[in-house]
Amino acid sequence: MKFLEGTRVVTEGELECNGITRYQVTKFYREQVMNSGYYDQLRYITEPSFEEFVSSGKLDTSGEHDNTVIPGMQHKYAQTGLLLVTDRCISYCRYCFRKRFVGKQSDEIATDFTQIARYISNHPEMTNVLLSGGDPFVLSTARLDKILDHLLPIPHLDSIRFGTKAIAYQPKRFEDPALPALFQRIHESGKASVVVTHFDHISEISVDAERNIRSLRALGVQFLNQSVLLAKVNDDPEILAATFAKCHQMGVRPYYLFQARPVKGASHFQVSLRRGTQIASGINQRLSGIQKTFKYIMSHYTGKIEILDLAGDDRIYMRYHQNKAPEKVGKIFSRPYLDGACWLDDLPEA
Ligand code: SF4
Repeated sequence: MKFLEGTRVVTEGELECNGITRYQVTKFYREQVMNSGYYDQLRYITEPSFEEFVSSGKLDTSGEHDNTVIPGMQHKYAQTGLLLVTDRCISYCRYCFRKRFVGKQSDEIATDFTQIARYISNHPEMTNVLLSGGDPFVLSTARLDKILDHLLPIPHLDSIRFGTKAIAYQPKRFEDPALPALFQRIHESGKASVVVTHFDHISEISVDAERNIRSLRALGVQFLNQSVLLAKVNDDPEILAATFAKCHQMGVRPYYLFQARPVKGASHFQVSLRRGTQIASGINQRLSGIQKTFKYIMSHYTGKIEILDLAGDDRIYMRYHQNKAPEKVGKIFSRPYLDGACWLDDLPEA
């Protein structure tokens, strides 16, 4: 198998036990990256590295298994249902936090949508559903329509959200002439359709992606973007500020900047929380008020934690953005900072 550092003979077993996922990247994305002027940074997103063999961590860092209520459906936060509708992606990101099943034959994906719809119907506190995976846009529009058949009749769902990196990897997918009707169905059922894109770097935003986003926005689809803070790729406030400014210009609201997770085979992408807070602050210094709509987030087992700052007292200040216990949401807390810490679990409780 080819790695960034050279060729290495590996068995299937070695790949499996080291959490090394399949290698797959679209021709479109490869060319976009090659011509971007940022190949040295962007190659780490899809090209395998020897570092994956020594990167320690877990395969489920945010308690996905513990929050699964039906195969393929997670209910961690009261308002949101998360559906894993596929285990496939159009290209595979080396830093993926769902390495445990993406690109593989998995039993973690949703199959029984009748049961899922029944669960949602019995949970009126759930106001939105996120279709994720894998990438939902590897599925045909007809297949997505079938999933919507189960979701759209549920009156207390206000929005249907799709999380996708396909707009970066294969923007042509969004030129499917059947897609406008799918979004139209969502709107006619009185719900918002939301696409959360996943651009990590301004050079991933192709001309084709921008054109297709603008067309779908004109049909009423709302767009947000989430990025992952990745060592060697985008750990630079200049690049991330430019990425978020470009998103804003296209009508895509910068939403989360995720701290990379301590995932087995991918923890080498983490930057320290000290560096992360410096980058988040550097981004904010470069953006206007209406552009700085992102939150720097650690998606932890205990909840989504907004990382606020590493203050002069050498403590990291944080706030729960989401927590299973609603009374914890918004509460600021702090931990002493330890040099090199990248995750809440690396910080002592004192
Ligand atoms: S597109 Fe998303 S689910 Fe697929 S490999 Fe990348 S991060 Fe993982």
